[in-house]
Amino acid sequence: MHPFGFELCELPPQAESLRSEVREFLRAELGEATPAQRAGSWGGFDPEFSRKVGTRGWIGMTWPKRYGGHERSALERYVVLEEMLAAGAPVAAHWIADRQSGPLLLRFGTEAQRQRFLPAITRGELSFAIGMSEPDSGSDLASIRTRAERVPGGYRVNGAKVWTSNAHRAHYMIALFRTHSDPANKHAGLSQFLVDTRSPGITIRPIVDLSGSHHFNEVVFQDVFVPEDLRVGEEGAGWMQVTTELALERSGPERYLSSFALLVELIRAVSKEPGERAAVALGRLVAHLATLRQMSLSIAGMLEAGQNPNLEAALVKDLGTTFEQEIPEVVHALLGVEPTSGSGTDLQQLLGYLTQQAPSFSLRGGTREILRGIIARGLGLR
Ligand SMILES: Cc1cc2nc3c(=O)[nH]c(=O)nc-3n(C[C@H](O)[C@H](O)[C@H](O)COP(=O)(O)OP(=O)(O)OC[C@H]3O[C@@H](n4cnc5c(N)ncnc54)[C@H](O)[C@@H]3O)c2cc1C
Repeated sequence: MHPFGFELCELPPQAESLRSEVREFLRAELGEATPAQRAGSWGGFDPEFSRKVGTRGWIGMTWPKRYGGHERSALERYVVLEEMLAAGAPVAAHWIADRQSGPLLLRFGTEAQRQRFLPAITRGELSFAIGMSEPDSGSDLASIRTRAERVPGGYRVNGAKVWTSNAHRAHYMIALFRTHSDPANKHAGLSQFLVDTRSPGITIRPIVDLSGSHHFNEVVFQDVFVPEDLRVGEEGAGWMQVTTELALERSGPERYLSSFALLVELIRAVSKEPGERAAVALGRLVAHLATLRQMSLSIAGMLEAGQNPNLEAALVKDLGTTFEQEIPEVVHALLGVEPTSGSGTDLQQLLGYLTQQAPSFSLRGGTREILRGIIARGLGLR
């Protein structure tokens, strides 16, 4: 059996001094945001806020300066991310580009693509969506059927993507399409493309979730032209690239901080006179949080060292989403508060929002069962 590679990782002093700078910025920007607004965090799409974050130099922090980046460490970036999430900042307009689209272009994009897209991302001006899942292909991503056929100067795309978060607001989508069919090898013949979401032939239809919010969509492609120079990487290399991208998608603090606002409210509600039952429950939650943070930080350390912590990232996401999902249940059990939507106290609304959102935590970015399969394979158990 192969072991996990977690190692204790300390934040360097420059990362800690950055923390107070970020906190001050967030205090001024978020002001009186309610707990329920803060719980939205990486679902909150606010281009103006993202531009301000870009001006501060907190997007593309680790990227080369020649592409608008700041050549800071992955650990400094980690501090910015955890402060943004803990405060409930509306980061969605730059989150995907900073986390995965930009790094993907840095690794596999052409020089022209890097120069065209990366500086605008670091300024917080360009937002991205992820075009992977399709109506019949989620966990089994390699079975996607949306086709990109070669035509003079580029490709013609036909098919549909689904659950595409913020496709209706993002400027570009990095999409995985089938450029070649080989029934004997479904992982071959996939390629990634930068797709302008306003291209003729694209129809974006809203999908409304359980809580009545519109954040994801169905995106239909009908004879959409994508120029050759917007293909990312080699034709047919899409599977290798998309698995690299998924590792970036699974390793950050967003995978255990989604219910953090509710944990804070729980501590506020019971901390004066907790009683034994609440003290035990809170102690357990806080111990889990501290351990998850240490594991997630360790992954940031591995990224900093140029390693590829796929296995560890899958574990943190699985444990982290279990933790996030548990918090609304604990609050309900301890405080007896009924969740509400649109009315009631701050705590009731926060509980209502997170009770409705929590089931999706272990679906988005790869389901629990798929992650456990990855972990078993990584440990050499299957
Ligand atoms: C809030 C949210 C946002 C999302 N945003 C995006 C986005 O921006 N872009 C994008 O491309 N996608 C997005 N998704 C889609 C997400 O990636 C998929 O929902 C996920 O990968 C699961 O795919 P599926 O929905 O087709 O379910 P399925 O793959 O059909 O799975 C159904 C169930 O079967 C289980 N299952 C499937 N295969 C196996 C197996 N081999 N072994 C054991 N169990 C299995 C799954 O774990 C799951 O419980 C989003 C989803 C959510 C909930």
